[in-house]
Amino acid sequence: MQRFSALALLRGGLTGQRRWPVQWRSPDPQPAYDAVICGGGGHGLGTAYYLAAEHGLRRIAVLEKGWIGGGNTGRNTTIIRSNYLFDASAQLYDHALKLWESLSQTLNYNVMFSPRGVMMLAHSVHDVQVFKRHVHANRANGIDSEWLTAAQARAFCPALNAGDMRYPLLGATLQRRGGTARHDAVAWGYARGADALGVDILENCELTGIRLSDAGGVEAVETTRGLIRTPKLGVVAAGHTSVVMKMAGIDLPLESFPLQALVSEPVKPVFPCVVMSNTIHAYISQSDKGELVIGAGMDAYTSYTQRGALHVSAHALEAICELFPIFRRMRMMRNWGGIVDVTPDRSPIIAKTPVKGLYVNCGWGTGGFKATPGSANVFAWTIAHDEPHPINAPFTIERFRDGALIDEAAAAAVAH
Ligand SMILES: Cc1cc2nc3c(=O)[nH]c(=O)nc-3n(C[C@H](O)[C@H](O)[C@H](O)COP(=O)(O)OP(=O)(O)OC[C@H]3O[C@@H](n4cnc5c(N)ncnc54)[C@H](O)[C@@H]3O)c2cc1C
Repeated sequence: MQRFSALALLRGGLTGQRRWPVQWRSPDPQPAYDAVICGGGGHGLGTAYYLAAEHGLRRIAVLEKGWIGGGNTGRNTTIIRSNYLFDASAQLYDHALKLWESLSQTLNYNVMFSPRGVMMLAHSVHDVQVFKRHVHANRANGIDSEWLTAAQARAFCPALNAGDMRYPLLGATLQRRGGTARHDAVAWGYARGADALGVDILENCELTGIRLSDAGGVEAVETTRGLIRTPKLGVVAAGHTSVVMKMAGIDLPLESFPLQALVSEPVKPVFPCVVMSNTIHAYISQSDKGELVIGAGMDAYTSYTQRGALHVSAHALEAICELFPIFRRMRMMRNWGGIVDVTPDRSPIIAKTPVKGLYVNCGWGTGGFKATPGSANVFAWTIAHDEPHPINAPFTIERFRDGALIDEAAAAAVAH
């Protein structure tokens, strides 16, 4: 595999950028694999990478019905943080954050992780109480989290409205280790790393059926590129997970909604951090290209269309203009949507299933990008060992039957 380094970049420049090798192969499907992953987003590609890198599996395929990273991985606003309320979530998301901190080095691929700080604004007494509870819970879990006064919040992000607001700024939480990363690069970096370890990445290959043996375990998958035999199938298909799992007779407590984002015209660096306002509902950061990256809300209705209603984006822009009056004259360049898979408690499922050899990783809803390395890492463990890693042990399907919910839905109005 080509190693990226300053010397390699220099050599590339001096040779007219003509000698860069292909970053991953485009193989034909083999008749059989030891493990198949359905879904070529960050979580699926990462799972294949860790299966090969940490668990020694070699005959692995990733099935992607479109192009890798073309799902929510390439459509999100890239906010990364780990300041979740519940112990189980804190463990999972901080496991991911620790992996983010060295991911570029691990993969020898610049995923542009930028820990510029994530600030969550409080606009009401209720917000203040809930957020302070988060800060205390986070600290008890060893996660960096601070409470800022309104003046401190404005000093950290000078673009914040200093005048009268419909919802006044009463303070904010800050996680300094949080930030952003380049989403495409995450998919590409994991794909390149997995490919170098022998994983076959099969794009334009849709899983259309799951065949079970007489004993009821996974035997093979039907795809648009032929039948593939495998004893282990990991499904990481985001908004389409319930559709795929139904092929094995499993009903999941998931609803799929469009979630939107939009970007502005690019401007010089003006916005130093990530800001989220759950109450007014807007979240914003600035990309390395200079665009303001703005997240809007979910549509009210379930759908599989990868675009949302206009009034939802308009509402997000109203909130941005209220919070940051300096952006009122900026023009928006593009908006798009992704299909997010939402569980009743807004926490993911990373688990074995009642079908032997079938594993599922889903329910990331509006906030799974930040979890990508951690989720992939523990899901690979689960598939390799046929039992959950201690970090994902609470994230079962059965919790919706038994009532052991991880109720981040009640803990935060927004889970990005
Ligand atoms: C607008 C928006 C903003 C967001 N903002 C944030 C944020 O700021 N921070 C954050 O943490 N999270 C955010 N998220 C959520 C985050 O993007 C997702 O939780 C995460 O990217 C999910 O990754 P994934 O790999 O599981 O799914 P995906 O990247 O969607 O990958 C699943 C893949 O499965 C493929 N697939 C589906 N069915 C089949 C099939 N039958 N056969 C083969 N392949 C199949 C799809 O084509 C897709 O590529 C946001 C999401 C959206 C839409």
